[in-house]
Amino acid sequence: MSDLRPTGTGTDLDPWLATYAERASGLAASEVRALFAVASRPEVVSLAGGMPYVRAIPRELVAGAIDRMLLADAPAALQYGSGQGLPRLREHIVEVMAEEGIAASPDDVVTTTGSQQAIDLVTKLFIDPGDVILAEGPSYVGALGVFKSYQARVVHLPMDADGLVPEVLEAAILEQRAAGRTVKFLYTIPNFHNPAGITLSAERRPRVVEICRRLGVLIVEDNPYGLLWFDAPPPPPLQTLDPEGVVYLGSFSKTFAPGFRVGWAVAPHAIREKLVLAAESAILSPSSFNHLLIAEYLETVDWRAQIARFRDVYRERRDAMLAALQTYLPNLTWNEPNGGFYIWVGLPGELHSKQMLPRAVRELVAYTPGTGFYADGSGGREMRLSFCYPTPEDIAIGIQRLATVVNGELELVRAFAGTGSLAPRRDDRAVGAPPPDLR
Ligand code: PMP
Repeated sequence: MSDLRPTGTGTDLDPWLATYAERASGLAASEVRALFAVASRPEVVSLAGGMPYVRAIPRELVAGAIDRMLLADAPAALQYGSGQGLPRLREHIVEVMAEEGIAASPDDVVTTTGSQQAIDLVTKLFIDPGDVILAEGPSYVGALGVFKSYQARVVHLPMDADGLVPEVLEAAILEQRAAGRTVKFLYTIPNFHNPAGITLSAERRPRVVEICRRLGVLIVEDNPYGLLWFDAPPPPPLQTLDPEGVVYLGSFSKTFAPGFRVGWAVAPHAIREKLVLAAESAILSPSSFNHLLIAEYLETVDWRAQIARFRDVYRERRDAMLAALQTYLPNLTWNEPNGGFYIWVGLPGELHSKQMLPRAVRELVAYTPGTGFYADGSGGREMRLSFCYPTPEDIAIGIQRLATVVNGELELVRAFAGTGSLAPRRDDRAVGAPPPDLR
């Protein structure tokens, strides 16, 4: 049989190397992946992952819902379903969104395989190579990976304690246009930002919406954490201010469980129709089993009480992390999030979060370097700490270990500076996409 595989164009490891589409070059492997394999060892306290604490869900609640769902209609659970998502589930999604002030109808909702797939589908619909996406700096690593794979140009917008700065947003749109570039959308996480922990203030929300509406820029509002507030609910979503100008993304991953992989998008009518077609072309139909199960859970379990339980768990962990930072690392800077999973930490200028990571793993603590959260790999002076998964006791131990790492590294760098020796090399290259447990 003749062999038509390409020869001489690939490598020993990958003979197909010259055959990939150009966009596949955006699928970079993570430089820190190997470290994180080590970081998932039980003796390491991981402040790196963004994994919800699903053990806070009583097992009987889920087991009971599965039983009832299968008894009621096993054949439907085992069959293909509607590409847009089970209508009964979409009705409940509307109720969940009403908790945050969104008034939508089940017809406006498209379910997706986690909100991650919604990010992918929206990007696929709107981005040609070289188009500009505006995003906070830092931004969600999983979205940056999608944007890169569609060859978008990401322009980061710095935040202050109140989130996106409207004047900076407007100037960036005008500047990109003046440079002849097409700005397609603003990707924003207004509530308990991943990774920055910041919430966009109530005063700024209408200004951000007004600027985007006036300048004709679509808003993609990613809101997986909005219901996980600690002290008071965040202001209403941007979607409530301009339903025709916003594609809103929601998810059950943080308020129920990520294992079901159910998220959704709410979009203006014409965009919604295209999203349904794109979703069907990607997956034909979502998991009927998971849709029926989540519908059953929402109908028969007090899900609001479960979300309140999550809030209590995460609030306690946030407090533990803030207290530990204050005790062990008062020489760093950080913000105090009012919800979500993350604290964003600034390091002294001499340190580099990616370079320091091997040392941290040796000290049995892991974090996510800031470099993964910027499209250009900057962020070496920052790191993300997650308080969602470890217990309060482990958080205190982890921060204590981190203090050993930071102070040890500072001593080393300062000793080099004092002797006039060459300081350790600083490396600002992008980390690449971390493995899923870091997102
Ligand atoms: N957006 C943000 C801001 C996230 O933090 C995450 C998960 N870490 C996602 C989207 C994706 O979540 P999922 O696909 O599980 O809904």
